[in-house]
Amino acid sequence: AAAHRATRPAAGVVVDGVAKDFGATAALHGVSLEIAAGELIALLGPSGSGKTTLLRILAGLEFPTAGRVLFGNDDAATRTVQERNVGFVFQHYALFRHMSVFDNVAFGLKVRPRSRRPRSDAIRARVLQLLDLVQLAGLEHRYPAQLSGGQRQRVALARALAIEPRILLLDEPFGALDAKVRKDLRRWLRDLHDRTGHTTVFVTHDQDEAMELADRVVVMSQGRIEQVGSADDIYDRPATPFVFSFIGESSMLPVEIDRGRIHMEGRLVGIAPTDHPDGPYSLGLRPHHAVIDMRGEGAISGMVRASRRIGGVRRLDLEVGMGRHRAEIDVPIDAAVPEDGLVSFRPTQWTLFDRSGGPDGGSLD
Ligand code: ATP
Repeated sequence: AAAHRATRPAAGVVVDGVAKDFGATAALHGVSLEIAAGELIALLGPSGSGKTTLLRILAGLEFPTAGRVLFGNDDAATRTVQERNVGFVFQHYALFRHMSVFDNVAFGLKVRPRSRRPRSDAIRARVLQLLDLVQLAGLEHRYPAQLSGGQRQRVALARALAIEPRILLLDEPFGALDAKVRKDLRRWLRDLHDRTGHTTVFVTHDQDEAMELADRVVVMSQGRIEQVGSADDIYDRPATPFVFSFIGESSMLPVEIDRGRIHMEGRLVGIAPTDHPDGPYSLGLRPHHAVIDMRGEGAISGMVRASRRIGGVRRLDLEVGMGRHRAEIDVPIDAAVPEDGLVSFRPTQWTLFDRSGGPDGGSLD
């Protein structure tokens, strides 16, 4: 496996205040991010949040309206796409249909200027080594039409790796594949990354994919970075209400803090951390961070609107506060729900967001 290690040192990347306008549309608003050499980074966000635009700027396919990108110590603006030496894989395997697997993978090496082009036996050795790496040994004479979707994506990856990229950029590389193949390729890519150590940035809107694969996840919304962190950071310590709502299941309920007490609809819900000034907050709640409270005194009450089984628990969809708000809570499968459908529950963990959006977590246990 050591033979497959990138022969050139992986480069780190600095994105410094990068903005991008397309006419009147601001796709990115001054985004900054530091990516360590050898790191595997996921850009995660809803459609239109600017993920692809940022990736294309890293690739040199798009130029920032403001700010700059550094590769290693070089200002990327001074480098052509070729000089940047990035490997790029798109969602729809852009293989050359009329070329064999071998020729597809060899392409980036064969089109190099003569002075930097390896000899043909060296190209052959490298291509076969890469096909071995992506577990396609023996298929070099096939054409793209004779491969499965997952195999084609692995050819695309081998082709991207052939040029010994300093950085590997992947735009929803498994987006077009079915769930099972996607999951397999995900593990395979993580494993490949561990062996080759390429600095890798990949775009996805699938949070499971991002959390499973990446060293750090960059959560984006509306052209801004909301948070950069490990899977645990973004799930357990969300920096913004957006991250809290976007990652995992959640409900957000309006509450007031008054002299250290949290009230919802005038009823006491819990005690706030001491450093919380009085005022309106949003209480962010995960379904599994609530328990049914039979006594109901001071707990949050909700009317059951729907109930469905999710794995080992029952999830209740509640109307809270005269039907103005929704909250989902998880209860044991055999939990008794009163006939009138009125359930009182108590959050055991929560995150409070003040009006300016800053988070603060706590536990009521
Ligand atoms: P998706 O997950 O749907 O691919 P994304 O997060 O990758 O979305 P981008 O493709 O980066 O988002 O788009 C960000 C914003 O910039 C969107 O509002 C989009 O319409 C706009 N945009 C992107 N490319 C162009 C372009 N070439 N011309 C005009 N607007 C563009």
